Amino acid sequence: MERESEQKEHQLRKSDDADGLHLQPPSNSLWCSPAGHNLEFAHKMRVLDQAEQGWVDDEIATAAMKMLKSQYDLGGLRPTALFYGQTRAPSEERRQQLFWLRNLWQAADFKPERRQAQILYTGSLHWVLVSNYHQFEEELVYVYDSRDEPAPDFLINKVAAVYRFKSPKFRMSWPLVDQQRNNKDCGIYASAFLVALCNKTDPATVLLDDSKKLREHLVRCCEEGAFAVDDLFPTRSASTNKDWSAFSMSAHLLWQRFKKVRHRVALPDREIRIICECRMPPGKGRKDRNVMCQESKCDIKRFHESCIYNFDREFYERIERKHWVCPTCRSMFKRE
Ligand SMILES: [Zn+2]
Ligand SMILES: [Zn+2]
Repeated sequence: MERESEQKEHQLRKSDDADGLHLQPPSNSLWCSPAGHNLEFAHKMRVLDQAEQGWVDDEIATAAMKMLKSQYDLGGLRPTALFYGQTRAPSEERRQQLFWLRNLWQAADFKPERRQAQILYTGSLHWVLVSNYHQFEEELVYVYDSRDEPAPDFLINKVAAVYRFKSPKFRMSWPLVDQQRNNKDCGIYASAFLVALCNKTDPATVLLDDSKKLREHLVRCCEEGAFAVDDLFPTRSASTNKDWSAFSMSAHLLWQRFKKVRHRVALPDREIRIICECRMPPGKGRKDRNVMCQESKCDIKRFHESCIYNFDREFYERIERKHWVCPTCRSMFKRE
């Protein structure tokens, strides 16, 4: 092991950074600590697209959110690792990840707020920003997705875990936002959309500059420990004449919209039903059953069996499933 780290020390590489050629420290050393969140030099390499194929990881996404959380009064913005879940994991592992999401609400420091924004890993190599700011309905979550993908089940479950709406259902909607032009910028775009949101700019109106400029901007902000107020990620129209840029922007948006309509890739809204104390979508299949509370006046009605095992195991195992009444109803209606 020592050998390895020694070798790393010696792998000082030359790079053409903004200020010319200079030696870089080993990748596992501390790079900076924006809002108290330590990032290693390897993260800088990632952000600059010089390592790990330029993918933004949990640490970078979390650091971006922490910086904004310390600057703006925004709900949510929790560490992304809380909402971990991989679509391609083996099925048993996936089930455990799903149960983790369902149990999240019981963690002491996890209290959902009315309005929240959150960068989320979709579960399949992609980052998106979700938010219920900027609309009248609280139970409508916008997914700012720079690659307009049909939402994997994991993302839907993660969104439910973030918001824990009391209502029996909520809606997810995909505004037409600027699309990344490669397969690795999603985390950068999600951060840029979030910075726009913090500055009260509709992320759907932002047209981002090329990848390199966005990445350098993120590096600078991390090193400064903050996103300067009003200093959005560089946009495509920033350098052109103002009147022209306004025109080209709306022309571009129209063109994007037209392309989407023409290619039929616009994603329809999704209505997500939620059940149980955990306020998550119903389980699927034999190994993830849903159980009805037999009290007709029950507010919740349907529960995940996996959750019942957490909060009512003893009683549930004593009684037949078709006679089960949830603890709240048992105490309220005094049924024996
Ligand atoms: Zn549940
Ligand atoms: Zn009940």
